[in-house]
Amino acid sequence: MATTSHDHPVYVIGGGPGGLAAAAALRSRGVRAVVLEKSDAVGASWRSHYDRLHLHTTRRLSALPGLPMPRSFGRWVARADLVRYLEKYAEFHELEIVTGVEVDRVERADDGTWLLHATGGRRLTGRAVVVATGFNHTPRLPDWPGLEAYGGDLLHASAYRNPEPYAGKDVLVVGVGNTGAEIAADLAEGGAARVRLAVRTVPHIVRRSTAGWPAQRTGILVRRLPVGLVDKCGELMARLAVPDLSAHGLPRPDTGLYSRVREGAIPVQDVGLIDAIRAGRVEPVAAVESFEPGKVVLADGTHLSPDSVIAATGYRRALEPLLGHLDVLDDRGRPRTTGPKSPPNAAGLYFTGFTNPISGMLREIAIDAERIAKHLAKPHEKRVASKG
Ligand SMILES: Cc1cc2nc3c(=O)[nH]c(=O)nc-3n(C[C@H](O)[C@H](O)[C@H](O)COP(=O)(O)OP(=O)(O)OC[C@H]3O[C@@H](n4cnc5c(N)ncnc54)[C@H](O)[C@@H]3O)c2cc1C
Repeated sequence: MATTSHDHPVYVIGGGPGGLAAAAALRSRGVRAVVLEKSDAVGASWRSHYDRLHLHTTRRLSALPGLPMPRSFGRWVARADLVRYLEKYAEFHELEIVTGVEVDRVERADDGTWLLHATGGRRLTGRAVVVATGFNHTPRLPDWPGLEAYGGDLLHASAYRNPEPYAGKDVLVVGVGNTGAEIAADLAEGGAARVRLAVRTVPHIVRRSTAGWPAQRTGILVRRLPVGLVDKCGELMARLAVPDLSAHGLPRPDTGLYSRVREGAIPVQDVGLIDAIRAGRVEPVAAVESFEPGKVVLADGTHLSPDSVIAATGYRRALEPLLGHLDVLDDRGRPRTTGPKSPPNAAGLYFTGFTNPISGMLREIAIDAERIAKHLAKPHEKRVASKG
């Protein structure tokens, strides 16, 4: 009997929350999905995040399809509990997961199937592919002049675990996204002698919850409202809930909260930064401009010689080697389509986890998983019905 594209499984690249959710949603619709994960276990990125990390989104609004998180995890789920949840999730949904397999390249075959090149010369044929390799794939360091000659201790935030190695030290944290803000607070609370925080763009800071109401719920409610209106409400909320830190070197931002979100900058959820700045335990300083041997040069001309520099300067998607040749990425290297929409020139190729909405990425991942599965299952369901 001749094989058809539907005899091949759907390959899901990446065994993080995005890949697991998509595989579970597919399986629940009777579509065989095989997850390929390059590390030796699911949830690899969560295994290596810093120790004190808790979700900034609520337990209920962060669960993946088909399995709630236990109440015992509390409202703000700890990193280790999220890892346990992902392990349980894979087991509960009986997902087919192959670990230790990295996909290097994805190609379209003439018959409409997808050919995956993977570790050890493997060639795998799928009827469709879900790319879930992560928004935070590869640590990004800016192209700072003079960095090679710096010679001091410098690491990317992805390698930071806890404040222990920095006790009694002078540390410069670069970048005030959620990660930089939390690491600065962690260092200040954990015994560093001096913590400075280099700020290029003043962030919007929001309380994780106000009178029991989580910031994430507001994010969900306002998501579809006009940007200008949300900016105005955000400004009002900030004046009511967040103290003015101008005297401490962190003025209020001059562009609206939602305008920034639309440019890709999620507000910083306060988990200790405000108190640390007010107490003088974290000192905001100007952006890092360049390096000299043994010195960091700031945009205002100040030269610093910290014991360590921690660069919380973000990540790259790094999709080019995998998919760059397929003309499915935009000029910033992000997929042109996400969720249930495949790029018009690449039917059967799906992306999940590549948007960073104000409503929470895990929630988005859960929604996208169901949509992708529904879309992918359609022809399959029709085929099964027509056979019967
Ligand atoms: C510090 C931090 C805190 C966050 N906190 C929250 C939060 O509170 N709430 C929220 O909603 N979101 C949060 N996010 C955002 C988002 O939910 C997480 O990043 C989440 O892990 C994204 O899931 P993912 O599956 O898309 O990516 P990842 O978790 O990064 O998983 C991708 C997987 O793909 C594997 N992989 C990559 N390339 C290949 C390849 N070529 N072949 C095979 N395998 C591959 C990786 O090993 C990894 O296991 C946070 C992100 C970070 C960095």
